[in-house]
Amino acid sequence: MGTSSRNTESGNHAAELVLTGTGTSIGVPVVGCDCAVCTSDDASNRRMRSGVLVRAPNGEFVIDTGPELRLQLIQNRASLVQAALFTHAHADHVMGLDDLRIFSHRMDSDLPLFCEDSVEQAIRQMFSYAFADREELAHRFAAPRFQFQRIVPGNPFDVLGLQVTPIRLHHGRLPILGFRIGDVAFCTDVSSVPSESNEYLQGLDTLILGALRYRPHPTHLHVDAAVQLAKKFKPRQTFLTHMAHDLDHATLHNELPDGIEPAHDGLAISVRGG
Ligand SMILES: [Zn+2]
Ligand SMILES: [Zn+2]
Ligand SMILES: [Zn+2]
Repeated sequence: MGTSSRNTESGNHAAELVLTGTGTSIGVPVVGCDCAVCTSDDASNRRMRSGVLVRAPNGEFVIDTGPELRLQLIQNRASLVQAALFTHAHADHVMGLDDLRIFSHRMDSDLPLFCEDSVEQAIRQMFSYAFADREELAHRFAAPRFQFQRIVPGNPFDVLGLQVTPIRLHHGRLPILGFRIGDVAFCTDVSSVPSESNEYLQGLDTLILGALRYRPHPTHLHVDAAVQLAKKFKPRQTFLTHMAHDLDHATLHNELPDGIEPAHDGLAISVRGG
């Protein structure tokens, strides 16, 4: 367990989910921006691209592989990532995939990538060298080794001793996945929840929801819409993530109703019942 855990875990299968990146696709600060948030001294206003590290009973896995993956794994003292799950294939969620190369090399085995077919196709295109004939490689370490594992919304699967249920979400018109692990659900880049997914968001301790900014956006929840969803599903606590530079952490913290808070990079959440 990491030293940053917020709660003590009493169950036999201690697990923890760490939000390693809570920023939108261009990160915060935004390069070249001199707004109050981008120039703020508050460390909570520095947000890497979306990332999650899960410390499961039998090892570590990540949800998405954004462009700052290596930095996030170092920052959060990961040691051996043994699998990756994907919400969708937008660049801010996959462009750090090669940072998993060291783990397939260390384990000398293919690293499983759990995703939908559309995400597999996108990854095969974006990282074609990783799927080329291995005889063509200059040396064994030149490319990561992956094997795809198809996942389906509503069908739970096991990863390193945790049961994970994929949840269908809508990201504008793009169908993507959220994940429920025990009493925690991670739903980034969501703009609406189809009714078939309601059952997976009931009875949660913690809901993590993407909330881009104050103004409405075609493919992301804005703050008010995220608050409405939290009120609908009534988890004990809700954390907002995937935040743009419009959102100052301290200001937003004061504005939100009880039980809803902005997340920050490095926030650790205990998982029970996975
Ligand atoms: Zn995103
Ligand atoms: Zn800014
Ligand atoms: Zn996206």
